[in-house]
Amino acid sequence: MASYPLSKTYDFHEVEPRLYEWWETSGYFTPKIDQDTRPYVISMPPPNVTGELHLGHAMFISLEDMMIRHSRMTGRPTLWLPGTDHAGIATQLQVEKYILRTDEVTREELGREAFIERTWAWKEKYGGEITQQLRRLGASCDWSRERFTLDEGLSRAVREAFVTLYEKGLIYRGSYLINWSPGLKTAVSDLEVEYQEELGTLYYFKYPIEGSEEIIPVATTRPETILGDTAVAVHPEDERYKPFIGSTCRVPILDRPIPIIADEYVDREFGTGALKITPGHDPADYVIGKKHQLPIINVLNPDATMNEAAGPYAGMDRFECRKQLWADMKAAGLTLREEPYAMQIPRSQRGGEIIEPMISTQWFVRMETLAEPALQAVKDGRIQIIPERFTKVYFNWLENIRDWCISRQLWWGHRIPAWHCTACGEITVAREDPVQCVHCGSNSIEQDPDVLDTWFSSGLWPFSTLGWPEETPDLEYFYPTTMMETGYDIIFFWVARMIMMSLEFTGMIPFEVVYLHGLVRVDKGTKMSKSLGNVVDPLQFVEEYGADALRFTLLTGSTPGQDTRIDPERIEANRNFANKLWNIGRMILGTLDAIPAEVNSKPEPTLPDRWIRLRMNEVIGDVERLFTGHQYGEAGRQIYEFVWTEFADWYLEIAKLQLAEGGARAWVTAEILVKTFEACLRILHPFMPFVTEELWGHLRGACNHHPARFKPSESEWGDALIIAHWPQPDPYVKPDTQVFEIFTNMQQIVTAIRNIRAEKSVDPRRMIAAHIGVGEHVMEYKALSPSLCSLAGIDPTRLVIESVLEDLPVDAIPLVVRGVVIYLPMAGMLDLEAELKRLMAELGEARGQIDRLNALLESPFSQRAPESVVEKERERLQSFQATVAKLEAQLKSIQDP
Ligand SMILES: [Zn+2]
Repeated sequence: MASYPLSKTYDFHEVEPRLYEWWETSGYFTPKIDQDTRPYVISMPPPNVTGELHLGHAMFISLEDMMIRHSRMTGRPTLWLPGTDHAGIATQLQVEKYILRTDEVTREELGREAFIERTWAWKEKYGGEITQQLRRLGASCDWSRERFTLDEGLSRAVREAFVTLYEKGLIYRGSYLINWSPGLKTAVSDLEVEYQEELGTLYYFKYPIEGSEEIIPVATTRPETILGDTAVAVHPEDERYKPFIGSTCRVPILDRPIPIIADEYVDREFGTGALKITPGHDPADYVIGKKHQLPIINVLNPDATMNEAAGPYAGMDRFECRKQLWADMKAAGLTLREEPYAMQIPRSQRGGEIIEPMISTQWFVRMETLAEPALQAVKDGRIQIIPERFTKVYFNWLENIRDWCISRQLWWGHRIPAWHCTACGEITVAREDPVQCVHCGSNSIEQDPDVLDTWFSSGLWPFSTLGWPEETPDLEYFYPTTMMETGYDIIFFWVARMIMMSLEFTGMIPFEVVYLHGLVRVDKGTKMSKSLGNVVDPLQFVEEYGADALRFTLLTGSTPGQDTRIDPERIEANRNFANKLWNIGRMILGTLDAIPAEVNSKPEPTLPDRWIRLRMNEVIGDVERLFTGHQYGEAGRQIYEFVWTEFADWYLEIAKLQLAEGGARAWVTAEILVKTFEACLRILHPFMPFVTEELWGHLRGACNHHPARFKPSESEWGDALIIAHWPQPDPYVKPDTQVFEIFTNMQQIVTAIRNIRAEKSVDPRRMIAAHIGVGEHVMEYKALSPSLCSLAGIDPTRLVIESVLEDLPVDAIPLVVRGVVIYLPMAGMLDLEAELKRLMAELGEARGQIDRLNALLESPFSQRAPESVVEKERERLQSFQATVAKLEAQLKSIQDP
C-alpha cells in the first residue's frame, strides 16, 4: 500500500469545481505587470448577457483558455479579459417576454424608463449565469477586470467614439432605404439579413398606356409594391418598347400616372423586359430612382401594414394586400399570368420574418474612410488572419463596404447622444448631456429616441475594456492585444469593425492575430441555433463526462475555419483518457514506496529509458512548433498518442520490469517515470487543466514526501501546475537514430508476435518459443530480452537472439519485420481441440444466420419492405457467406496441416 495513495477512480465532479475556486482565489488569473516583458492578451468575445452556454461558447472558451494557459506557463504576463454584451435586440425581446409572462404588461404599457429599469433588474438577476457557466469550463480569465458593454466606462467610450465620428463628419443622419424588420419594428443592418432561396410566384400584369389602347407588360414577385411604383423602366435599345419611352402609364387601381423611362440597367431577358420602379421598397429601384430623380413613395407602416399611400388597401397586412390587389386587378382585366418562381427571400436573422426594404431616417457611419486603413493593416501583415483564406473574404467585404446603419428603434442599449431642437430643428451632439440647443440656445430639446447597434459598442471592445478614452496603465501596458479568437461567422459584424474602430481611435491595431474557429454543428452539418431546436447543452456533457473531456474533444476535433461536429462518443473516449491519466498516476505513485531513499551509484539508463527521454523531448519540441503555427488540435492529438501509446502502453510496461529489479535500477526508473509524467502533465495542462492539476499536486506531494525527493526536469516543484514552466526541449538530449531504430524494431516484433498469437488463438498465459535473427546490434537486442519476453509472451529459456539464425526451427511460423527475421515454433503450442471447438461453434452460428436470412428474403418481406432495407439484409447474407468460407478454410488447415 503506497503511503501517498490516489483514490481508485478519478472523480471530476469533486475535483473540477474545487480546483477552479482554488485557482481563482489564489489570484492565478490576474497577471503581474512587468514593464520589461510584452504581455500576451486576449479580449474575450463577450457572450450575450442573456445568454445560456452553448457549444459555440464552449468552443471559444476551450481554445482561448488553452492559449492563455500556455502563454501563462511560458512566463509572459498573460491577461484574458472577460465581459458580457448587453445584446440590444436579444435582451429586449427576452425581457419583453418575461414581463408579459410574469406581470402581463407589454413594453409599451410599462413605458421606456420603467422598462429599462426592469431590464437592469433582470440583468442583475440572470446576467451572472453565463459567467458562472464559463467558470465551469475552466476559463482562467481575470474576473477582477470583467466588463459589461453598458457599464459606466464603456458607455463613456461609446459616447466619445460617437461624438468624435460625428464631429469628423463620419456619422450622419439621413433618409435612406434600409432593411426594416416589421416584427422587431427596427432597422437592421445588412449583416443581420439572411437570404434564403424560397419558392414564390412571379406575377405578370399590364400597365395601361395613357392615350392609347396599348399596354406595357410587367412582372413582379411583390404585387403590393405596385402601389408605390413611380416609373416603368425599359432598356433604351429594346425594340419592343422603344416607342413607349417618354410616354405615361397608369398604376393599376390607383390610376396614378407614372412615366416610362429608359435605363441601361434594365435586363431585356428578365421577365417581360420592362421593369416597374419602386424606389421606396427595393434597393436597385432606389438607385434608379435617385438617378432619374423619381419621387419616393412609402406604402408601408412600421408593422408592415399598408399606409394611406396604398389608397383603398390602407390598414391591410402586406400579404393580405398582395392577394386582394391581385384579385382586384384580375377583375379589372389588368393581369396576364402567374408562374412559380424561385427567389432569394430576405429574412431577419433574429426574428425570421421577411425583411422589407424601406425608406427611413436613420443614423449611418461613413465606412469608406474607415475601411482603407483596416485593409492596409492586413495587407502589410501587421494583422495576420488564420486561416489565411479568410483574408480574401475580409478584403472583398472592405473593398465593397456600404455605410453602416447604426440606429436601432429599441430601448435597451446606448442611447444616441443627439438632441433635436424643437425650435430650430437642428441637432446637438455632445459628450455631456446638453441643456440647450447649441444652434439657437433654446431649452426645448429632446434626445433622439434611438439606441446604437450593439456592434457599435463591441467594436470598441479591445481598447474600451482597458480604460479608453482615459489613458490608463492597463491601456498603456496591455494594448494592443495579442490574439483575437472568434468564430468566422462574425468576421464582418465584429472583427472588421474592431480593426476599423481601433485604427481610428487609438491609431494602433487592436490585435496581432485573428484566429477564426469553425462553427460547432450537430447532425448533418446544420448550424446550431435556438430556432432550429438543435442546441446541445454543453453543461450536460460537462455533467456527464467532465469539463476536461469536453474541452479536449473540441480542441482536438477542430481545425481553424473548419466546422466541427460534436460526437458524444468522442467525449466519452476523452473522459476515458482522463481516467487513463489517473491510472498512470496511481501506478507511478504506487511504486514510489519500494524505491530506496538514495543510491550509491546510478546505473546507465537502459535503451527504453533513453528512448522515452528522446521521444518526450521530441514531443515537447513538436508541440511547441505546432503551437507557434496555431495547429493546436494537432498538438493535442500528438500528446494524446504519446501519453497513451508510447508512455503508457510501452514504456510503463517495460518500467514495471525495471522497477521489479529493485535497487539502483528501480531508483533510476522511478526518476524517469516521475520526470516524464510530470512533463506530460505540463504540456497537457492547457487542454485538460483539471485532471492534470490534480495529478500534478499528488505527484508533487508524493515526491516531496519520499526521501529521494524526485524533481521535475529542469526545475523545482512550484505552487501549482497552472503557473509551472512550459517545458522546453532539453538541449543535452541529442537525437539518437540507433536507439529509435532498435526500440521501434522491438515494438514491431512484439506486435507481430502478438498478432500471430491472437490469430492462432494461443492461450495468453502460454509462453512460446522464438528465434530471432536481428542482424546488427545483437547485444542491444539481448539486453531487451526481458521486455520482449514479457510483452510478447515468450519463454525466456526458449528465446534465441542471434545476428543470423544458424539452426532454423522446424514447424515454425516465419515472420519478417523491418529486416528482422523471426521464427515461432508453434507445433504443439496450439490447443487444437479448443481451436476446433471454437471454429465449429462460429461456423454453426454463421450457418444459422444464413438460413434465417435466406428464409427472410424468400418471404413476402422482400416485396413489402423498402428497397434499402431489403438491400441491407442481402448485404448481411453475403457477409455471413464470406465468413463461412473463411472458417471452413481455417478448419481445413487445422485438421490436415
Ligand atoms: Zn435650436
